[in-house]
Amino acid sequence: MASDLLGNGVPMTESLESLIQEWEGLGIVTAYDRPTGTWIFIALHDVSQGMAVGGCRMQVYAAPTDALRDAMRLAEGMTYKWAAAGLPFGGGKSVLAVPGPLAGDERTGLLRRFGRLVASLRGTYGTGEDLGTTPADMAVVAQETAHVGGYDPTTRHALDPGPYTALGVFSGLRAAAAHVWGNDDLSDRPVLVQGVGDVGAPLARLLARAGARILATDVDAERAAAVAEEVGGTVVPPEEAYNTTCDVYAPCAVGATLNSETIPQLTCDIVAGSANNQLDEPSDAKRLHEQGITYVPDYVVNAGGAIAFGLLWKGERDEATLRSRVEGIGEVVREILAEATARNESPMHAASRRAEAVLEGGTGGDGKGR
Ligand code: NAD
Repeated sequence: MASDLLGNGVPMTESLESLIQEWEGLGIVTAYDRPTGTWIFIALHDVSQGMAVGGCRMQVYAAPTDALRDAMRLAEGMTYKWAAAGLPFGGGKSVLAVPGPLAGDERTGLLRRFGRLVASLRGTYGTGEDLGTTPADMAVVAQETAHVGGYDPTTRHALDPGPYTALGVFSGLRAAAAHVWGNDDLSDRPVLVQGVGDVGAPLARLLARAGARILATDVDAERAAAVAEEVGGTVVPPEEAYNTTCDVYAPCAVGATLNSETIPQLTCDIVAGSANNQLDEPSDAKRLHEQGITYVPDYVVNAGGAIAFGLLWKGERDEATLRSRVEGIGEVVREILAEATARNESPMHAASRRAEAVLEGGTGGDGKGR
């Protein structure tokens, strides 16, 4: 199975080695799950602020090196996400590179063995739901380790981070609206939501409630139609996502949708959405800035689920408190956009500076989600 997964003629040790050699993170925990033929990578990027916390992605990759690269990139993203949110956690992420979709006993077995691996790290790394895993999966992992975010051992129920993430995006988007248009009134503003899944659907509901006109697009046509109908919006075919006229583009599906091909097509004033790693390359931030589009940095605006789960981890159970801390993303976005405008730079630069100041200070922020 291992050699099947390689598929590129490159000796496994060489390419995995070179990735690890070049990485600036703390380290990688690697395992091969023989019963399912799954490579497991737990990337620990930075623990200077606290235990590394980040979700567990289950996905089919062309090669284990792709999975490792993904884990490293996502773990680094978590370091910045926690620092920008001012919560005392470090950056980590795990990837289960499955050979194909897993269900039933096979899936449960893999998740339990993954849980035992997490348990063996004794609190260096904490996991949670991510793409390809579900709250039900996390309940299985939690049978082996206490280090699962959003899991309540008394009810044996794992929370869904999607609605918290959606609330954070909504708050950040409103702050961006106030920054760009002088007020945060979304009435009649066309907002294109790309990907109406776990985050995109509740985001569309919040936006519609605030008066926005929803343009829903999804590769799953039925899902797009259902959400559009529910919120009184319109369906946009996936291939027309970038050249459809709108005021806000909210990428809530996959990464790298902002690139040299798509950015010139955009007509919106604001980009704010939940997808991780929205920029194809760092220079895309400048490209958006030069085109007069206000880009709300992904790792700042999509931190709602992480913030809620981080606070749950610290023992906070009051729903109103969780929601208000997630809504604090709006204030963070306001500050970042004000600084970026004052310096005539991309908000991405202002966000990085903010996160790096926290990391260099070693303080973990003020603990208030700021
Ligand atoms: P999801 O799988 O529930 O929903 C994603 C939706 O996007 C699906 O409906 C899918 O059909 C659609 N989609 C996939 N590719 C598409 C494409 N090319 N064009 C249009 N639609 C497409 O995932 P989710 O949990 O809602 O997460 C969405 C994004 O937000 C992901 O990038 C995820 O990493 C990121 N994110 C999610 C959370 C969270 O709390 N769930 C937190 C932070 C970041």
